[in-house]
Amino acid sequence: MTDTLIDRRDLAFQLYEVLDTEGLLSRERFNEHNRDTFDAVIETADKMAREKFANHNSAADKDEPKFVNGQVQMLPEVKEAFDAYAKAGFIAGRYDYELGGMQLPETVMAACNGFFTAANPGTAGYPFLTTAAANLIRVFGNESQKASFLPNMLSGRYSGTMALTEPHAGSSLADIRTSATPADDGHYLIKGAKIYISGGEQSITENIVHMVLAKIKGAPAGVKGISLFIVPKFRVDSDGNPADRNGVSLAGLIHKLGYRGTTSTALSFGDDAPCHGYLVGEPHQGLKYMFQMMNEARVGVGFGAAVIGYRGYMHSLEYAKDRLQGRKASEKNPESPQVPIIEHADVRRMLLAQKAYSEGGLALCLYGARLMDDQHTHPDEQKRTEAGKLLDLLTPVIKTWPSEHGPKANDLAIQVYGGAGYTREYPVEQCWRDNRLNPIHEGTSGIQGLDLLGRKIWQDQSHGLQLLMQEMQVDLQAATTDRCQQWALSLSETLQQAVKVTQNLGKSLMSGEVDKTLANASCYLHLFGHIIVAWMWLRQANAAANALASANTDDERNFYQGKLQAAQYFFHWELPTVAQDLVLLRNMDDTCLNMKAEWF
Ligand SMILES: Cc1cc2nc3c(=O)[nH]c(=O)nc-3n(C[C@H](O)[C@H](O)[C@H](O)COP(=O)(O)OP(=O)(O)OC[C@H]3O[C@@H](n4cnc5c(N)ncnc54)[C@H](O)[C@@H]3O)c2cc1C
Repeated sequence: MTDTLIDRRDLAFQLYEVLDTEGLLSRERFNEHNRDTFDAVIETADKMAREKFANHNSAADKDEPKFVNGQVQMLPEVKEAFDAYAKAGFIAGRYDYELGGMQLPETVMAACNGFFTAANPGTAGYPFLTTAAANLIRVFGNESQKASFLPNMLSGRYSGTMALTEPHAGSSLADIRTSATPADDGHYLIKGAKIYISGGEQSITENIVHMVLAKIKGAPAGVKGISLFIVPKFRVDSDGNPADRNGVSLAGLIHKLGYRGTTSTALSFGDDAPCHGYLVGEPHQGLKYMFQMMNEARVGVGFGAAVIGYRGYMHSLEYAKDRLQGRKASEKNPESPQVPIIEHADVRRMLLAQKAYSEGGLALCLYGARLMDDQHTHPDEQKRTEAGKLLDLLTPVIKTWPSEHGPKANDLAIQVYGGAGYTREYPVEQCWRDNRLNPIHEGTSGIQGLDLLGRKIWQDQSHGLQLLMQEMQVDLQAATTDRCQQWALSLSETLQQAVKVTQNLGKSLMSGEVDKTLANASCYLHLFGHIIVAWMWLRQANAAANALASANTDDERNFYQGKLQAAQYFFHWELPTVAQDLVLLRNMDDTCLNMKAEWF
């Protein structure tokens, strides 16, 4: 078992040699920072994650929260970790100095949060949800709502949740039934039930601020009738302190495969007592507000999946160096010493795949975080708009690719451990269980495929897609060594085929063949995702090839060679798998569409 959460050399490479994070320092918002402050905050996150989060990751998984006598019982270490995170200023890390924040770039905050998820995804869930809920209030709340809730949330006195899902409405939020009836003194009475609400009840904070989607009586049908409400567990007085108990209650805790440290709750609103909700922004705009935050949440999910994949890779890498088993296939002497399993090519295959998935996923998510920074802080307005369009287009990929490939990496980590990997005495099975949530929440992979092929590709006359191709061209042309040029060529050829397929799918959609075109949206997402991650590997390979030429220690040369070999793995073993997607999409294969329920 290793205590490395994310390899710091790799993170520094991705932040400073691939992404030019230091370039952000010239922007006004970040001008009080420098590389040292970025590194110091990353160092704090890494250390705190190892000391306060990783210390109870396994214990919280084994001893999950329980509902006893109306209280949620949890390990005390969860509160200690939450409080330490809040006290260090991470909940407000990206916010303005006036709000008590550190005005850190999204890219740096994402990197910091990566350590906490890698250390303990269950406990990290509480502060992350609080940041997301606080952000909704910060952007869309009125002054009194901000004054009542924001300081207490950002300081970690109150936590937050996102309460969207209902028992009968998960992927299809248009069908939610929770209702909001205006009361005389400005608040609304909320009535209904929510399910799977993470952190919906806990014993960490003085108050819990639920961000609830509900429909105001008489609202239009579907998503256009959804509004957003603040529903606190305790109503607050004029100073924002907890006052009367509000009518939101825990109907039960849900028991899960992984992510066990985060409570999953069924909540009822207005059943036992009146439940006050406070409208955020305009009526009927709730889903729009949520969606504006969704990019952040989805990049966060992708990031979590990548770093849990990464954590499993770190564990299995260490194990493979220690575990002695067998000899080289060419070794005939049975008395020769056994070799560490990392000497076997098949084990290296499994380690390389994990490296390709987790470092590729990390590169993708950091790129997404950088787009957020550019969207909000780039000095050139046009560049800000373009970054927003690129982020919008790439969000389904950033959410889904790591979510699909992170668990694959963890599956391979189990395999590297052999029998030990399947036991609960070793850490990798928990990584897999924790990571298995990521293709499901924040919109399933299936829903992300529909979003990409049904909507995002065509938005603004495909302007986002054109911008993406321009961005990719820069890196295709920057390939200078023979190896990188070969990979650039195969990426560019695959891209051309994908563009043709996309044009045909577009024609088919225009001609009204919606069901047939979207039937293979998951294939399209796989194709698109693999192309994007191949691009991420080309960017890393270009940077590594250039740096290798002047690297002057063995450690540095090994690091860059490792990057190039993982890039080669991606281009030789992974990118070619899109050939099948291309065939299915070219033929608009209707096997799944035309299968009938009765034929199963
Ligand atoms: C551990 C956990 C934590 C969660 N945390 C939260 C939270 O904090 N807040 C919150 O609001 N929600 C939360 N959720 C809920 C989560 O977002 C939903 O489970 C998810 O959106 C899927 O909804 P569902 O479970 O109702 O599945 P369904 O919507 O019933 O989907 C079932 C299957 O059908 C597919 N499907 C559905 N519709 C379509 C379609 N139109 N086309 C093609 N395929 C389709 C899906 O892809 C999926 O494979 C959490 C869930 C879990 C498991």
